[in-house]
Amino acid sequence: MKQTAEQFRIKSAEKAIDRAHRKTINFNIGKYNSVVPGGKSQFADLMLARERAKNLKWRAIESLDASLESFETEISKRGAHVLWAEDSAQALEQIRKICEAKNCRTLVKSKSMVTEEIHLNAFLESHGIESVETDLGEYIQQLDGESPYHIVTPAMHKSKEDVARLFAEKLGTAPDLNPSQLTLVARDILRAKYAEAEVGVTGANFIIADIGGVAVTENEGNGRLSCSMPKTHIVIVGIEKVIPSMTDLGLFWPLLSTFGTGQRITSYNTIITGPRQPGETDGPDEMYVILLDNGRTNILANARQRESLYCIRCGACLNACPVYKNIGGHSYAATYSGPIGSVITPNLQSLGEWKHLSHASSLCGNCTEVCAVRINLHELLLDNRHQAAVEGLAPGSEKMAWKMWRMAMLRRKWMNMANGAVKTRMINLIGKAWTKNHGKLEFPRKSFNQQWTEKNGRR
Ligand code: SF4
Repeated sequence: MKQTAEQFRIKSAEKAIDRAHRKTINFNIGKYNSVVPGGKSQFADLMLARERAKNLKWRAIESLDASLESFETEISKRGAHVLWAEDSAQALEQIRKICEAKNCRTLVKSKSMVTEEIHLNAFLESHGIESVETDLGEYIQQLDGESPYHIVTPAMHKSKEDVARLFAEKLGTAPDLNPSQLTLVARDILRAKYAEAEVGVTGANFIIADIGGVAVTENEGNGRLSCSMPKTHIVIVGIEKVIPSMTDLGLFWPLLSTFGTGQRITSYNTIITGPRQPGETDGPDEMYVILLDNGRTNILANARQRESLYCIRCGACLNACPVYKNIGGHSYAATYSGPIGSVITPNLQSLGEWKHLSHASSLCGNCTEVCAVRINLHELLLDNRHQAAVEGLAPGSEKMAWKMWRMAMLRRKWMNMANGAVKTRMINLIGKAWTKNHGKLEFPRKSFNQQWTEKNGRR
């Protein structure tokens, strides 16, 4: 446990002073910030749209059992097989069995954070199955042996020069290719893989309760190819992704694209309602949907944290977070990074091991401000901190520090005893890690209380 927190501290301290990293992130988030207002302009009343989306997710999550059963009943009518997985081990075993039955040697996969959560690629590799990422950002990350850096933009921390260098090293291309040329290289390689693959895996942005549908949103067309070219299509999705009705997509699609990438609508929006039906020309012979719990019902059982299940993974809170922008996505060492990752990781996994993420926040509230579905992220972070304290998970040094702080705060005389120079010396001594990469903290010679007393003659 201590190790996870310590690694986080070390990695984030390194990243925070990495100027090249900061330059790339500021450039890419700057591009995002410049297009988001365009997407927002399509809403007559944006706040109402966000509140309505939150309300719809509330409805779906409050009746999660019925919503999921409705999804299962409807999609099963068209021949899809619905499997339920309590945890990653069960989900992986279900995928292994399907792959084994289909004699699968190559699998194509579109972008899916849930497959990252269960570490699907490493698992398939250990069973001799080649798993090929087909989203360009994910493909770049896979080539580089790295996990996604961001839930929407997996290679956000790489510049176009970084990608050109990577392709040159791994694929033998010229080292000065431009983004269009790099895309063509990836496209040529990936096209061949779609034809070769026996199984295609996708995630789902939404699963639709009333019609039994799976909604996939993407910009490259790779999701459509992954679910329609191989003979078998596996969808793996967290149970919280359910929405009540197909008509709700009229709100969720533009909301997701606006907050995710600043587009008014994403290029490809697909609703899949089963395998290929008699008389249809496209689509797989078989379709499986794996509904994954993996800790989500822990969150469901916690009335205060439940609203974190409304998340539509737009990534806006990551882009807005001053901590994320400084330490980057990989420092979190968790599948989900940024504010939403800091909220859900301790509850999906273990509060004891991941409670430090609740402190990876300035509590400025910017995440809550920008959240597409108005999740009170900073309050949920505070709640995690509170819960960790209630469960006695804070280290002894932290407990002692708060005890001393409380004692001092309750005694004005103690506070006044140390003048500015003493405070400056003490704080800079205690906070050595801070002064390593920042200027020294300076306190004014007189406290506010002393200045007030001098001016107004009373305390
Ligand atoms: S918490 Fe909100 S802003 Fe963050 S990814 Fe989820 S929906 Fe988007």
